[in-house]
Amino acid sequence: MRTLISTEELRTGIAGLARRLEAHYQGQPLTIVALLNGSLLFLADLVRELRIPVEYDTLRVSAYRGEATTAGEVRVEVGQVPAVRGRHLLLLDDILDTGATLQAVGQLALGWGALSVRTAVLLWKPDRTRAGFRPDDYVRQIPDVFVVGYGLDYNLQYRQLPQIVELDLSAAEAGQGRSEEHTSELQSRVDI
Ligand code: 5GP
Ligand code: MG
Repeated sequence: MRTLISTEELRTGIAGLARRLEAHYQGQPLTIVALLNGSLLFLADLVRELRIPVEYDTLRVSAYRGEATTAGEVRVEVGQVPAVRGRHLLLLDDILDTGATLQAVGQLALGWGALSVRTAVLLWKPDRTRAGFRPDDYVRQIPDVFVVGYGLDYNLQYRQLPQIVELDLSAAEAGQGRSEEHTSELQSRVDI
């Protein structure tokens, strides 16, 4: 495991995104809708950084992929449609990989009556993203590696880490069942 993006780099990157959003939505009614669970910490830090009025909500999305992991078919189910009629909607997600999830939610959101629909992600893996799709804004581009921390999980673990860490998936699989131990070991290193 190695740190890819430090807590401080996350903070300055999110502040940069906040400044761009302030410029874009100045004087406009803005609602940010974050996709659970991965973008919860991102949402919390972003809204506290924003110096314009903003409403926020969260959305639980179930994405069912086809057999192949790269399959374009993602069925999205939204529990409750957020109240964005007459407001500008910014969809927030933790990471844009193939783009299937955000593209599907974005399509759905077009029917919610928002004045506009845009997307912003914390991390973007451009090498993996389907042709012709990109987020409207993002904090950092990363290479095609598996990352955890700052909301991102591996088998529900590691979301609590305050930085983005690259996880060696084969090592993680070999150490299955010891992940809590790994987390506390990392946490104590972070606290130093
Ligand atoms: P997409 O639909 O863009 O292919 O996938 C987006 C979702 O895949 C993310 O919301 C996240 O749940 C998962 N994902 C993609 N890459 C990573 C990664 O490097 N780490 C983790 N933890 N999840 C990832
Ligand atoms: Mg996710």
